[in-house]
Amino acid sequence: MQESLNATPSRAGSATVARDALSVLRQVFGYDAFRGQQRDIIEHVAAGNDALVLMPTGGGKSLCYQVPALLREGTGIVVSPLIALMQDQVEALLQLGVRAACLNSTLDAEQARQVERELLDGTLDLLYVAPERLLTPRFLSLLERSRIALFAIDEAHCVSQWGHDFRPEYRELTVLHERWPQVPRIALTATADPPTRREIAERLALEEARCFLSSFDRPNIRYSVAHKDNPRRQLLDFLGGHRGESGIVYCLSRRKVEETAQFLAGQGIAALPYHAGLPAEVRAGNQRRFLREDGIVMCATIAFGMGIDKPDVRFVAHLDLPKSIEGYYQETGRAGRDGEPAEAWMGYGLGDVVLLRQMIEQSEAGEERKRLERRKLDQLLGYCETAGCRRQALLAAFGEAYQAPDGRQGCGNCDNCLQPVRTWDATEAARKALSCVYRTGQRFGAAHLIEVLRGADTEKIRQFRHHELSTYGIGSDLDANTWRSVFRQLVVAGLLEVDAEGHGGLRLGAAARPVLKGERQVLMREEPARRSGRGGSDRPSQSTLHVDSYDRPLFDALRAWRAALAREQNVPAYVIFHDRTLRDIAQLRPATIGELARVGGVGGGKLARYGQDVLDVIREYG
Ligand code: ADP
Ligand code: ZN
Repeated sequence: MQESLNATPSRAGSATVARDALSVLRQVFGYDAFRGQQRDIIEHVAAGNDALVLMPTGGGKSLCYQVPALLREGTGIVVSPLIALMQDQVEALLQLGVRAACLNSTLDAEQARQVERELLDGTLDLLYVAPERLLTPRFLSLLERSRIALFAIDEAHCVSQWGHDFRPEYRELTVLHERWPQVPRIALTATADPPTRREIAERLALEEARCFLSSFDRPNIRYSVAHKDNPRRQLLDFLGGHRGESGIVYCLSRRKVEETAQFLAGQGIAALPYHAGLPAEVRAGNQRRFLREDGIVMCATIAFGMGIDKPDVRFVAHLDLPKSIEGYYQETGRAGRDGEPAEAWMGYGLGDVVLLRQMIEQSEAGEERKRLERRKLDQLLGYCETAGCRRQALLAAFGEAYQAPDGRQGCGNCDNCLQPVRTWDATEAARKALSCVYRTGQRFGAAHLIEVLRGADTEKIRQFRHHELSTYGIGSDLDANTWRSVFRQLVVAGLLEVDAEGHGGLRLGAAARPVLKGERQVLMREEPARRSGRGGSDRPSQSTLHVDSYDRPLFDALRAWRAALAREQNVPAYVIFHDRTLRDIAQLRPATIGELARVGGVGGGKLARYGQDVLDVIREYG
């Protein structure tokens, strides 16, 4: 190891002498210090050992193989499942002055040959390659003739059949170990659930590798769940706190994706749709715009997922319930990879619960599968209804016991911690609701039941003579919205059940009896008047918290400069500089190259390329 450390005088960046991991970090990447376990992992792999790295999205996995690849003799071979993902990574590395390339189907024959020559000549630090390409006899024989620093297997959960990203070729990657047993391998994933982790180690023959398991907490993401009463209004409120920022709005159906994108566009928001039903070019074009432009709001089904490596996604909103808590964690995890404040917001209501319960009951799946899905849904609903810390609930689902920093009670960065939930004695309301369900024959949905309770005069009520029932009008003391919340909580608690026929009818659950008989008290969450998002809420938004500490016009000017440059070079803006870096520049206002070099994210390569330009922008606005 010592030898390879010293034998790499001018590998990355012109004036760089890579002596140890820390100086590579500082000189090439422009960062001050390693995060979490990065240093241990890098030293372990640089010394020639295998590693399995389990780290949440945004934890900084890339550096764990990029730095060792720069420290070791030869080229680091990175297996990566998606072309778009590879290209952006390579782009970012080239900007840093690292000699990186990818081999995939987008290259023509001549370009591919050029990359192969560089590999053979030993002039590449990192080579990204798709698994199917890597496994071709041609490529394997090319590897035989090259010097390999390490193999990195990114998105290693693709080897597992349980996730939704299964890639059969990943299972054949054991060939790397068989043919190059002396070359270290590092497999990386952000998959949080233990069974998948075990499968990765097994399938990739990494049982002997050291496993580096990080906490899956994403402290910069603020989680909140709102009772959905006027979803569009609530979404707009929420987006109001994120003007000009990039984010994702997840919807369950393609139709809703389209409608939401159209609605937002009509409100002057740069929103685009993404779902599997769109023509491939439209999808690719929209994804590209999302990745490359600032401030696009992507309305999407979960088809929009892996490969969204954009570090500055500031929010993820769910207009419908996700399928499971694992899904929710993954989807929201796309926010805030850069470690800057980000927000995960979900709107949730009775309709969601009814719909998902029906989808499970009506599916063709076997009973065992249905049982599993019911359990997953209940776990998710538990998260939605919890009065405790959301972060704690989320991490508990992955077997992690959350420890609040400095012995605090909760995380301090979720809705329930910021604004503790109040409960109210809903025994009386619950009894009214349950008896109304009973008296109307256990076949009507919540909307009608609420009208009966509130004593409305509708055609349906007259038709069924529900105005003659004893429960007619007994609930006029509560507004319709409160009743919706009551019904939702009754369904989640199993006091009411959803009919399997799919009309949304409600009937009494097994647990209803003691409540009806007055033997059991029912406590419910109170829906805060304004839990709809931070836009119109009573607490300051995370973005505005920053405003005082840095110079906004200068920051905007730097962003405009970066946007123009990104367009010119046809690369995503963030590969030039991250928002974080621009914000620090706007705050510190460096006057010389030396001062600029001290800003986080400004390494030797970027300093040489852009240093003078940045100083010019500062001078103009100074
Ligand atoms: P992951 O692949 O785990 O999702 P990345 O490797 O994309 O995460 O890193 C997430 C972000 O954190 C990137 O913007 C990266 O530049 C930044 N980052 C990683 N390590 C450090 C560090 N030691 N100091 C500062 N920023 C870092
Ligand atoms: Zn919390």
